[in-house]
Amino acid sequence: MDMGDIMDCIFCKIVNEKIPSYTLYEDEIVKVFLDVNPDVNGHTLIVPKKHYQDLFDIDNDTLMHIMDISRKINQLLSDKLNTDGLTLVQNNGLKQEVKHFHLHLKPQYKNEGNLLPVEEIYKKING
Ligand code: AMP
Ligand code: ZN
Repeated sequence: MDMGDIMDCIFCKIVNEKIPSYTLYEDEIVKVFLDVNPDVNGHTLIVPKKHYQDLFDIDNDTLMHIMDISRKINQLLSDKLNTDGLTLVQNNGLKQEVKHFHLHLKPQYKNEGNLLPVEEIYKKING
C-alpha cells in the first residue's frame, strides 16, 4: 500500500473529515457511520481510523476493538430503530469495493419496512 492509494481512499477521507458522513460514534481507533447506499435501514459501517486494507492486514487488537464497538452499536440500533437482530458482513478481495477494512452492521427486522433516506435514519438515531 503506497501513500498515493491511501490518499485516494474514500474511507481515509471520511476519517479525516474531507468527506462528510452520518457519524454515529467515534473514538481514537474507529469511526462508525451510516452506509450511504444501505441494504437495510440502519446499515452501518465500523471503520478503523488507520488504513488497513482488509482482514489479512489488520491487527488483532484493532479487530477486537471493532467487535466490541459492534456490540455497543447493536444496542444503539436496537434502542433507536427497534431492530430484532444484527448481521455482520466483512468483504475481502474480489467483492470488497472499498479497500480500507470495514465491518458492515446490517440490522434485522421482524417487519422490515421500506428503505428510508439515510438522513431520516440518522435523525431517528440521533434524535
Ligand atoms: P464493500 O463492498 O464491503 O467494500 O462495501 C463498501 C460499502 O461502502 C458499500 O456498502 C457502499 O455503499 C459504502 N460506501 C461507499 N462510499 C461511502 C460513503 N462515502 N459513505 C458511506 N458509505 C459509503
Ligand atoms: Zn483508507
